Amino acid sequence: MRKMRRKGLASMAVQTVASSSDSTIDLGPAAALSCRECGHRVPLGPVFACEECFGPLEIAYDFSGHDTEELRRRIEAGPANIWRYAPLLPVPADVADKPNLNPGWTKLVQADHLARELGVTGGLFVKDDSGNPTHSFKDRVVAQALEAARAFGFTTLSCSSTGNLAGAVGAAAARAGLRSCVFIPHDLEQGKVVMAAVYGGELVGIEGNYDDVNRFCSELIGDPAGEGWGFVNVNLRPYYAEGSKTLAYEICEQLGWRLPDQIVIPIASGSQLTKIDKGLKELIELGLVEDKPYKIFGAQAEGCSPVSTAFKGGHDVVRPQKPNTIAKSLAIGNPADGPYVLDIARRTGGAVEDVTDEEIVDAIKLLARTEGIFAETAGGVTVGVTRKLIKNGLLDPTKTTVVLNTGDGLKTLDAVAGTGLSATIRPTLDSFREAGLA
Ligand SMILES: *Cc1c(COP(=O)(O)O)cnc(C)c1O
Ligand SMILES: [Zn+2]
Repeated sequence: MRKMRRKGLASMAVQTVASSSDSTIDLGPAAALSCRECGHRVPLGPVFACEECFGPLEIAYDFSGHDTEELRRRIEAGPANIWRYAPLLPVPADVADKPNLNPGWTKLVQADHLARELGVTGGLFVKDDSGNPTHSFKDRVVAQALEAARAFGFTTLSCSSTGNLAGAVGAAAARAGLRSCVFIPHDLEQGKVVMAAVYGGELVGIEGNYDDVNRFCSELIGDPAGEGWGFVNVNLRPYYAEGSKTLAYEICEQLGWRLPDQIVIPIASGSQLTKIDKGLKELIELGLVEDKPYKIFGAQAEGCSPVSTAFKGGHDVVRPQKPNTIAKSLAIGNPADGPYVLDIARRTGGAVEDVTDEEIVDAIKLLARTEGIFAETAGGVTVGVTRKLIKNGLLDPTKTTVVLNTGDGLKTLDAVAGTGLSATIRPTLDSFREAGLA
């Protein structure tokens, strides 16, 4: 089953871009693309599936000859955005000088009040990625894909999106001076639609769910109509995906170049989770953090929980689901990186868990009330899952724990629509006293 899906992808994997063949590709330390399944290597290019086995391609680096302390100094002297990690990313060394949105270096909030509510004594932190330019973690991945698009000579930036990605692509393309045309399911939250449309690119609603949108985009790539188009999460996916490593780098640097013991990460396609693990492993290999065990936990909404269902059932294969949840940014029923998420959760001693829509809303309010952070539904998923994992004994409350908030609550206002006025009064002190608020 896994093989058949890959076969479909591979037939569309090889694509040529007119202007890129003769120019030299400078993507910094990125040396080649390497197959995650069989290790087959190919030169850097806009391809995403292995020609030998149809496995996913990812970036292979040449970090040889690095000096750990020199690297640390360089990073610490770098800009307060993801480009401080340029020596570890598939981007040219002068990337910070180009017009882009410079996302990242978001706050790692020490969440003592939330810790008290959840009974965490070992230190609880919220990595708050709502602080990015378009208010979700997607700016990190799009920034990498944009560099690849520039290197390969693409003129249109595109994507299939559950909402946040569409906005991030629209904004990045506007800043870079490229055309954008992005595809979303037609029934997304109003906040996400406006955020995607306001940057002036084309925004197309597709009658279907995300998996239908994604399938459509794969067809478009193989068609002359899609020529010259860089789909950030399809033909540029190997580059796009590396952006999530910056979350791992930032968390460790913000903890004082230390690995956390436990991280709770939301899962849509599973790309972010697998690349955070890759980032942590690189930091260990490069000697930037001390090697010690860490556990990775994945979080899903019950209404779209293909990975947690497989994890709990002890399966290696992720069976697709039809999504039905308020956590629309995570509503991918057929997650491409699902099997790798299972591997990582099991290898590190973590777990994958899910929460109901009601628990998501509760958790959004809990985080807002305790820490002053207004999360989108995906943040409700990670906080809700953290609470559940502590209750069922899978997450150790005596260990340092980082919970990701990957998006801004202003984009999913409907989720907390019942929240509002405490009272309505006349503009008099008597009326105020009567309302019992004094
Ligand atoms: C896209 C997204 C994720 C994670 O997506 P992956 O496909 O698993 O990498 C998490 N949170 C939000 C808010 C997102 O938009
Ligand atoms: Zn392969």
